[in-house]
Amino acid sequence: MDKARLKKIKKTVQKMETLVFDQLSQKQEKQLFKFNENYKKFLNKSKTERKAAIQIVKASEAQGFVNIDTLLTKKSKNINKVYKVFQGRCVALAILGKKPLLSGANIIASHIDSPRLDLKQVPFYEDLSMGLIKTHYYGGIRKYHWLAIPLALHGTIITSNNKNIEITIGEDPDDPVFTVTDLLPHLAGKIQANTKLSEAFEGEKLNLIAGSIPLGNDEEKNRFKLGLLNLLYKKYDFTEEDFVSAEIEAVPAEKARDIGFDRSMIGSYGQDDRVCAYTSLEAILNTQPPDKTAIALFFDKEEIGSEGSSGAKSNFLEDFMSDLLFISGQGTDNRSLRKSLINSSCLSADVNAAMDPDFKDVHETMNAAKLGFGICITKFTGTGGKSGSSDASAEFVGKIRQIFNKNKIVWQTGELGKIDQGGGGTVAKFLAKFGMNVLDCGPAILSMHSPFEVSSKADVYMTYLGYKAFYSDND
Ligand code: MN
Ligand code: MN
Repeated sequence: MDKARLKKIKKTVQKMETLVFDQLSQKQEKQLFKFNENYKKFLNKSKTERKAAIQIVKASEAQGFVNIDTLLTKKSKNINKVYKVFQGRCVALAILGKKPLLSGANIIASHIDSPRLDLKQVPFYEDLSMGLIKTHYYGGIRKYHWLAIPLALHGTIITSNNKNIEITIGEDPDDPVFTVTDLLPHLAGKIQANTKLSEAFEGEKLNLIAGSIPLGNDEEKNRFKLGLLNLLYKKYDFTEEDFVSAEIEAVPAEKARDIGFDRSMIGSYGQDDRVCAYTSLEAILNTQPPDKTAIALFFDKEEIGSEGSSGAKSNFLEDFMSDLLFISGQGTDNRSLRKSLINSSCLSADVNAAMDPDFKDVHETMNAAKLGFGICITKFTGTGGKSGSSDASAEFVGKIRQIFNKNKIVWQTGELGKIDQGGGGTVAKFLAKFGMNVLDCGPAILSMHSPFEVSSKADVYMTYLGYKAFYSDND
């Protein structure tokens, strides 16, 4: 067989892997880098779920989106772009389509919470000559990642007279930062060398150094803690009890950075899952009024199992959907709501694990995602025998594949590690319970859940284009 014929056969029968950078025109490459500059800005302003929510609302208001709650009491026609914020930590955007909502919406659901260290409710204490802060980690972290790095504090405090005070300390280059100390290698041998990694670092030892100037003389008990509390009172009017009603998060203080001589990748805290939040936000903001209603959901609490009133297990989507039915003058009865949900299609927008050159063993190479090969489709997640997963149907995977191919989106497939290696879940199963089709779909990243997660700019851009193509599908 001649070479040309063989090549043609191979191209026809084999599944090809495409590297995004092999496919782009010069113009597209320029757009890709520009898009990622704005993505980095979003990451830097969105270090917590509350701050991400603020950025999302700001960007959508700038594009003419209106708070849906203001439309529930007065009738105003011709408004088709709306948003809803719940508890300041969970957001939904929608562009009403020409078709009735009963025929379903195209939904993209991401999450805006990320692993971090939360301050405990009674956090301040002293030891030796220092004032310290106790934390409780949130989400799945490798505890040693959080030692010996600069950390910033972000949060909301409700005072005893019901004042709501926001604090951000450690993001400005002139701000002080906080840190969890680590043992020096010289002395770590005996107590850690023969300890299992899972036991070498204790959650109760993730304490932040917060000051070392005492108040009062050396007869005073707790004078380093007092020094801290006195400073907080003078500067912010906080008392120790105020921290009981507070949500304060310690997050990496570093900004998002380009990685590599060619600047082709981004290193940053919080890319799981703000990369999907940003790309789906940009996708909906750049979608022309579609036939089918477009919805972007930005959930909280995914990292702790989507629990609570702002997580994907809550009634937030049903509530938003019934508001959409109401403002568009459609029936808001239970049946209409159920039909609107069951007829919808959803991309569960979350990151997957890219294969790491130094840890290939945890992946099965044929089915693992790789950096730079485009948006990753993950048919199922879960652990063991797909337990805890939402396994997308062949029909729906087929539909998304066709949309991507038609729109020249570079895509790949992925799975979360080898069988029985570990695993994990996303919001997919909590949306699937409404009966809608759901597929996990987002970029694959390296060092997931670390303070410096790595993404490929090519994958970020393809994810944006992929989400946009999904919103424009009207079948
Ligand atoms: Mn995630
Ligand atoms: Mn995660």
